[in-house]
Amino acid sequence: MRAEARPSPVERALVDRLTGEDYPVWRQQAERARFCSNPVRLAGGAVAADSATGEVRAEVDTASHPDGVLLVACGDRRASVCGSCAEVYRRDMWHLVASGIGGRMSATSSGGAGARQDTVGSVVPDTVQGHPRLFVTLTAPSFGPVHSARGGGVCRPRRDARVCVHGRALGCGLVHDADHPVVGTPICAECYDYAGAVLWNAHVGELWRRTRIAVDRALAPAAGAVLGRRVTATEIRTQVRTSYVKVSEFQRRGLVHLHAVIRLDGIDPDDRGRIVEPPVWASAGLLASAVARAVDQVAVPLPSPDGRLRVGSWGSQRDITDVSEGGPVGNTRRLAAYLAKYATKTASDAVSASSALARRIRSLHRTWLRRAVGAHLARMVETCWELGARRDLEHLNLRKWAHALGFRGHFATKSRVYSVTLGALRAARRAWRAGQREASGERDVWSLDAGHSVIFSRWAYAGRGWVKAGDAMLAEQMAREYEEARREYRELLRREKETEAADMAA
Ligand SMILES: [Zn+2]
Ligand SMILES: [Zn+2]
Ligand SMILES: [Zn+2]
Repeated sequence: MRAEARPSPVERALVDRLTGEDYPVWRQQAERARFCSNPVRLAGGAVAADSATGEVRAEVDTASHPDGVLLVACGDRRASVCGSCAEVYRRDMWHLVASGIGGRMSATSSGGAGARQDTVGSVVPDTVQGHPRLFVTLTAPSFGPVHSARGGGVCRPRRDARVCVHGRALGCGLVHDADHPVVGTPICAECYDYAGAVLWNAHVGELWRRTRIAVDRALAPAAGAVLGRRVTATEIRTQVRTSYVKVSEFQRRGLVHLHAVIRLDGIDPDDRGRIVEPPVWASAGLLASAVARAVDQVAVPLPSPDGRLRVGSWGSQRDITDVSEGGPVGNTRRLAAYLAKYATKTASDAVSASSALARRIRSLHRTWLRRAVGAHLARMVETCWELGARRDLEHLNLRKWAHALGFRGHFATKSRVYSVTLGALRAARRAWRAGQREASGERDVWSLDAGHSVIFSRWAYAGRGWVKAGDAMLAEQMAREYEEARREYRELLRREKETEAADMAA
């Protein structure tokens, strides 16, 4: 006879949660924390009072909440850390990139048909769709031969059997799968220029800054060639401007590379912040020749901790594609999705995924690090650590950025006028939620424009993660259901539109 299987502690906790009296409230909280996998727990409360009369308009106290806490999403952009928060970030990135390509597209926008005004005031006119734009990929130069997948071909074929000064074969006759750990690692780690690689990562931000200046400069001779007369840099500044959004990503070899959308805008002499169409002679071809020229010429002298002279420049692997409307690649939605995907996925995740890992990097636990990220990335981290101790490299903060292999830039940046900001998107999301509450008759006394409210709050950190065993699992399951519902809703809208179009045609 078999004994009845007893529920595991997790199963018991799950049943507790689902049958608990406060389950509906808990679910609401989980939803508000966007089903984050590692939410921050806050204890305390807040009071919104009328500034004139002192009358209390609303009050929250976590004492009455499930588990006595408020859950706040972690907001991490990395998919390896929090799938749900990374997804929110990816969507925001998508909107950011897409609005710079096709104009602001949002449920929260209002205003006329020509220019859609965001709730917080940034305007991206629909006409940007017609602006010349390029999709540019820039990579790092080589710091020594590495193993590569080569699409199923031999890694590094060589006829001779030459070896390096360390006695290692210069070639590699193997065929590597694309996801094999050896791909991206040096043929000889002793020959590989680790200092150069780390210093390059540390200067890629400056290299990009110089590239942008060089593009603007290169526009003048390019315009001169088209117009058949001399065009000065000063004149060009009164005619056109480049805007961009860029995303940085780590390659397998631990070096940063960039994807950017560069757009050509015109100038409104009365309002330089406005986005207007460029003059007709300012074509995608003209922009492409200026970008190519800038990318070839630009360089940053790197510091020389070991007496070796190095200049930071772009690698020979680069791509400049015309993605203007009606051009060879017209699918702007795919382009936006592509950039957004890269914003949440980086190889540095492998190095910086957990705080435990960051601690171990700080104490430079070498054996552990090698096991966790492989010998090559571990050596990049170690090089950051060693160079970070030097007084002459202090300004690069290499120890602080060791987990990012020396790169201390932002993973996604844009020029001021490219499109809406992430902050604007967040504000729009808050406004939309408040609007929903209003629609349901609930007044939002917490919003700052509710008028004459003062908010007193006292919050204390109460921990990280979900409270009960099984909560995280439940949140993950709810996130999936939520996603599924979203997809079904979108599909429904699409079908409705199709039927509408068919009715119109009939
Ligand atoms: Zn999260
Ligand atoms: Zn190989
Ligand atoms: Zn060697």
